[in-house]
Amino acid sequence: LIEVRGLRKAFGDTEVLRGVDLTADNGTATAIIGPSGSGKTTVLRSLNVLEVPDAGVVRIADASVDFGASVDRSTRRREVEALRSHSGMVFQSHNLFPHKTVLQNLLEGPVQVQGRDVEEATVDARRLLEQVGLAGREDQYPSQLSGGQQQRVGIARALALNPEVVLLDEPTSALDPELVGEVLAVIRDLATSGWTLVIVTHEIRFARDVADQVLFLDGGVIAEQGGSEVLSDPQQERTKQFLRRVL
Ligand code: ATP
Repeated sequence: LIEVRGLRKAFGDTEVLRGVDLTADNGTATAIIGPSGSGKTTVLRSLNVLEVPDAGVVRIADASVDFGASVDRSTRRREVEALRSHSGMVFQSHNLFPHKTVLQNLLEGPVQVQGRDVEEATVDARRLLEQVGLAGREDQYPSQLSGGQQQRVGIARALALNPEVVLLDEPTSALDPELVGEVLAVIRDLATSGWTLVIVTHEIRFARDVADQVLFLDGGVIAEQGGSEVLSDPQQERTKQFLRRVL
């Protein structure tokens, strides 16, 4: 479902991604882990072109962009829009519209962007709120919710676009420790109910439990990858060192 080849990105003189390849199958959860500054967030943001890679190919389902190819601007814009339409993003901090209710936040994408019928989208939005444990909160404003609840709305909002892939960028790192569990539980539930997830996370134990695939990024390259054994029985010295520090 997802295929990335030769992803490169520099900020100024700093090469942040130095040739990243990854593939992920439909219905799988991929965890991207690694030291601070290794490029995890940049990989994730490249998948929906919130960061524009300097080179490499990103394909999700039937949409693909070759960032090394020179194409005219309108072609590139169409390619990028097609790629973006396949993913929903969950940010570190939820980025909800503060002056809209929970339900309005969930309807914004499907109705305004995708042009879906309001009533139909409302039925789906209520179902998603139930799935993230927030039934009955439709008419509240984000400020009336706890940080964990806000983040669960953020997840429901990403799902409301019905994307092929849900991208989660350190979804629990801005939360108070006691709120982390409820958000991880929702993500775990998504993984078991068949959503395709790519998640950048510092929650190593969570990654070990939930991920079908683990990518250990170090210095802008994938230093080790595999199933959860990357975390329980790492082969590379760099991975071992990292895990010793964080576990
Ligand atoms: P962390 O775990 O700390 O979030 P990360 O592995 O997700 O780190 P990235 O956020 O991808 O790392 O950043 C990789 C490097 O790129 C860092 O050194 C960061 O300072 C730099 N960087 C990221 N975004 C930009 C930007 N917009 N402009 C300049 N430098 C950037």
